[in-house]
Amino acid sequence: MEKHRSDARRGVKGKGKLYQIMNDLGIENFYIELIEHHSCNTKEELFKKEGEWIRKMGTLNGQIQGRTPEQYRTDTVVQKQEYDKEYNKNNKDKITEKQKTKYQNNKEHYKQKSNDNYYEKKETIREKMNAKCQCECGVVYSYGNRLRHFNSKHHKNFLNNNIDKCLATRRRTTIRKTTEATFIQQ
Ligand SMILES: [Zn+2]
Repeated sequence: MEKHRSDARRGVKGKGKLYQIMNDLGIENFYIELIEHHSCNTKEELFKKEGEWIRKMGTLNGQIQGRTPEQYRTDTVVQKQEYDKEYNKNNKDKITEKQKTKYQNNKEHYKQKSNDNYYEKKETIREKMNAKCQCECGVVYSYGNRLRHFNSKHHKNFLNNNIDKCLATRRRTTIRKTTEATFIQQ
């Protein structure tokens, strides 16, 4: 305690908050109190015990002793979010600059990555668009052509219960499709 007091008087850094408050409230008002006898074998056990008490009593110390990094993150996740939000707001330029440098230094890596992403996405989209759907009107259409199909005469005739017309347009469509297919193949 004597050391804390003299450090606080001299304004030693590292325990900023504690010493500031000791000075504000009066150094003579601070004392050390034994709250528990606890025998332990390692420093870690000691820190853990200290942490338990700090959690019970609150602390000026930024980090609670004896927490695993995982525990620390869980305990402070909300504060961290607030802090990050504030930090990002106040450091926009710095962050942009940092990202730029990071990109410049890893250009090839990022290009490759976005390339991979692009082809992966493209492939997924292509698969989705090519998926065959069976319409209640009897036509099989590709998902990508669904709007065209829903606007087609055939589908509209079907919805209007005009089965005769529906069959006619369907035959025409089939014929046209066959012609197109032959044409593409040549
Ligand atoms: Zn249809």
